[in-house]
Amino acid sequence: MTRTGLFALLGALTLTACSQATPEQQIVNDAATALGGSDRILAVKTLVLEGEGTQYNLGQDVTPSASGQTFTVTDARQAIDVAGGRMRIELTRRPSFSFFQGPAPQRQITGIDGTVGYNVAPTGAATRVADNVANDRRVGILHTPVTAVRAALDPMARLANARTEGSDSLVDVTTASGLLFTLAIDTTTKLPTRVTSRTDNTNLGDVVVETSFAEYQDAGGLQLPTRLTMKLDDFTTAEYRVAKQTVDGDAGDLAAPADAMKAAAISGPPPATVAVEELARGIWYLAGGSHHSVLVEFNDHLTLIETPQNDTRALAVIAKARELRPSKPLTEVINTHHHFDHSGGIRAAISEGLTVITHQGNAALFEEVAKRPHSINPDALAKNPKPPMIKGISEDTVLSDGTMTVNLYPFSGPHAETMLIAYFPRERLLVQADIYNPGPVQMFAGHFLGELKKRNLRIDRVVPLHAKIVPYAQFVKEATAPPPGTN
Ligand SMILES: [Zn+2]
Repeated sequence: MTRTGLFALLGALTLTACSQATPEQQIVNDAATALGGSDRILAVKTLVLEGEGTQYNLGQDVTPSASGQTFTVTDARQAIDVAGGRMRIELTRRPSFSFFQGPAPQRQITGIDGTVGYNVAPTGAATRVADNVANDRRVGILHTPVTAVRAALDPMARLANARTEGSDSLVDVTTASGLLFTLAIDTTTKLPTRVTSRTDNTNLGDVVVETSFAEYQDAGGLQLPTRLTMKLDDFTTAEYRVAKQTVDGDAGDLAAPADAMKAAAISGPPPATVAVEELARGIWYLAGGSHHSVLVEFNDHLTLIETPQNDTRALAVIAKARELRPSKPLTEVINTHHHFDHSGGIRAAISEGLTVITHQGNAALFEEVAKRPHSINPDALAKNPKPPMIKGISEDTVLSDGTMTVNLYPFSGPHAETMLIAYFPRERLLVQADIYNPGPVQMFAGHFLGELKKRNLRIDRVVPLHAKIVPYAQFVKEATAPPPGTN
């Protein structure tokens, strides 16, 4: 072969290698071209999106399947330092429903700087968030077309599993730093339609987080979407309309605040402290954190009210219950309502063999929660699988064995429609979560008082599962006080 012939052959081989991109590379290349070209994408330094929208209330709405409670979001600004791996999101949200914290707008600032995630309170105080939250935010930076395609163009990224779903072509991407996501592009326009990634949710286990893109417009030589829709599995969590997109403008200071930067990494929930207070013979208040429980002693077994938050809290409360009365089996837990912070320990309770007593309207949710896979972050039930025993209650129910009596009342109000409240007739104690916490802002107490009066209950003390126990008279006073700012 002559030298010329050899070069010609090498040239042809190189040409062949270039023109035969893998199906995975082809999807990424097509997306890059549609967005404005790989050179333009790789040159982007900052992105700033400004707009408004709607947030939904997953896990905190009035019933497990409801989605009517929303927050109206204004002054939203998402600033990304593309190469630096920094992002900061600032927004104002206003509840469009009866929110326990009241109707006032809330300013929220969240950010990620490398591996340090942080929140900034309205006071300006910055706190570091747990590593799993920070990791979700690192992946969150990739939930835009430009950042996703840029990460996929990185020669160190691994592309896999090119496939077609409906009118989309999909490719799985593992970034150079080990983050995983899936990029979907429209088979016709080649523009990215969505980015999905997986994460762990305490209540729901393995979930898919999706951001979908629509209504692309030209900005800074790129095609950028002006409508963003966020989902967690099938539940829409937020919708945004982008009014202004700035490419390579001033993104502001995206460094983590010093207090967050110097704080130690948080690898999981803090250890649970369970403070015991005997409320009456055979009834203990298990407090010590933000979410409390009540332990009830029957003749031959123990019953808990509430296993909240997560495995850590729920297992600590269960252990304390067994420690207080080691001679009697703990057999069941009464759940006050489905809200994720109050049901986050349901799986732990099932793993410990407890029957879950809840409002009938929550039974299907908890059956499903018990079944869902938790492979990303295996919890107590994933490690120790047990069939769930869920007992749904749809009418007034008395738990009594002669030594102890607890009345359970299904309760529907503006905070939730599938609640149980517990009343101890002999001790004149009323146990409830979230409907009433002592303090100046009372969103639900007036309605609650009206409902209680219909029952003619004799109550001495109200036991809130978030706050201190108060005399009934204080509850009545706060429930009937005019709302703040009206006098
Ligand atoms: Zn609640």
